[in-house]
Amino acid sequence: MDYFTEEHQILRETVRDFAENELKPRAAELDEKHIFPLEAFKQMGELGFLGAHIPEEYGGAGMDLTSFIIIMEEVSKACGSTAITLAAHTSLCAYPLYRFATEEQKRKYLPPLCSGEKMGAFGLTEAGAGSDAGATKTTAVLEGDYWIINGDKMFCTNGSAADVLVITAKTDPTQPSSYGISSFIIEKEFAGFKPGKDEDKMGLRGSKTSQLFFDNMQVPKENLMGIEGEGFKHFMETLDEGRIVIGVMALGIAEAAFDAAVAYSRQRVAFGKPIARQQTIQGYIADMATQLEAARLLIYEASRKLDQGKRVTKESAMAKLFASEVANFVTDKAIQIHGGYGYSAEYPVERYYRDQKLCEIGEGTSEVQRIVIARSVLGKF
Ligand SMILES: Cc1cc2nc3c(=O)[nH]c(=O)nc-3n(C[C@H](O)[C@H](O)[C@H](O)COP(=O)(O)OP(=O)(O)OC[C@H]3O[C@@H](n4cnc5c(N)ncnc54)[C@H](O)[C@@H]3O)c2cc1C
Repeated sequence: MDYFTEEHQILRETVRDFAENELKPRAAELDEKHIFPLEAFKQMGELGFLGAHIPEEYGGAGMDLTSFIIIMEEVSKACGSTAITLAAHTSLCAYPLYRFATEEQKRKYLPPLCSGEKMGAFGLTEAGAGSDAGATKTTAVLEGDYWIINGDKMFCTNGSAADVLVITAKTDPTQPSSYGISSFIIEKEFAGFKPGKDEDKMGLRGSKTSQLFFDNMQVPKENLMGIEGEGFKHFMETLDEGRIVIGVMALGIAEAAFDAAVAYSRQRVAFGKPIARQQTIQGYIADMATQLEAARLLIYEASRKLDQGKRVTKESAMAKLFASEVANFVTDKAIQIHGGYGYSAEYPVERYYRDQKLCEIGEGTSEVQRIVIARSVLGKF
């Protein structure tokens, strides 16, 4: 099956050119000095990447999801920190706005998000509600013309830098677990909104992962996103798309590690010949290449199905689960192939290893993906 049109191929070349020249040369410094990729974000806005699969009438580029997946793959190959910043902005903020917001909300919020004038984020996770997102404790109570929101969020990518955030809060506390949760569009200027500290992380160190505090935050009545009580449904459907995006982020990082390992194995000499001529190393390279190919197929198949308007809950969970575990394997083997140099920050493979690990955790851990897949296979019994 050929997943790509000529337009997709041209897009890939354009993104690769940008990523190789603008992102890759700075990736190590961003990681080392915790530099947020704001400059790259603005450039990606000008190139139309930020609203890639948002229709043109809302300021987007009007491409399909496969196009955004191609963009994510090439950006991830060059810089993980930039990739997660892009993923959170486009896939977790702009995309659910496009899917679930009212027409008025879309017209107000999407154009500046697509152009990069404003940055977006998505706040779902709380200290006590990660995998168990239905355990949301943040509350929203309607008082006159405002929703009064109280609570806090954890691990929000772009959180402290974002201008516009989609968040969830319990609007009906009488409802159990995942029921009675609604989505809200908030702006950083809203009274009572306070971004907290950014996490010091193992990888993706150029990106921001922030706490958010809502202290009697006043949110205009019209900023309830879509229909009251449908917040859980919103983020479940958002994650169907988002998991393909995290899968391709894992793939891109792993492809970078693979390319580095192949090049190194050709030039590193031990026992009088390049290590690429040792069968054990060849076995590693064969396994890495095979697993990458399988991950690529799962990702682009899930993306193709979503572009056809099909529900992809199982396919996106499979793509993310498989690709993120492949990335763990491939980046580990890439370090092994580099020997001691792989463990040193002089070579990029140790960064790839640290960066990819998030893909087994964010937007649902591997354990959660297995639950989603098993539920799909087994159904109710
Ligand atoms: C860098 C980074 C960026 C992030 N960005 C965002 C963001 O932008 N927005 C956002 O809302 N969140 C974000 N997150 C949060 C992320 O989605 C959560 O961390 C993730 O869903 C796991 O939740 P948790 O950390 O509470 O772990 P827990 O849910 O406490 O899980 C701990 C362990 O228990 C396992 N576990 C839990 N329940 C089960 C079960 N039923 N069966 C088997 N095993 C189980 C988990 O798989 C895991 O291994 C981010 C996290 C990180 C680290």
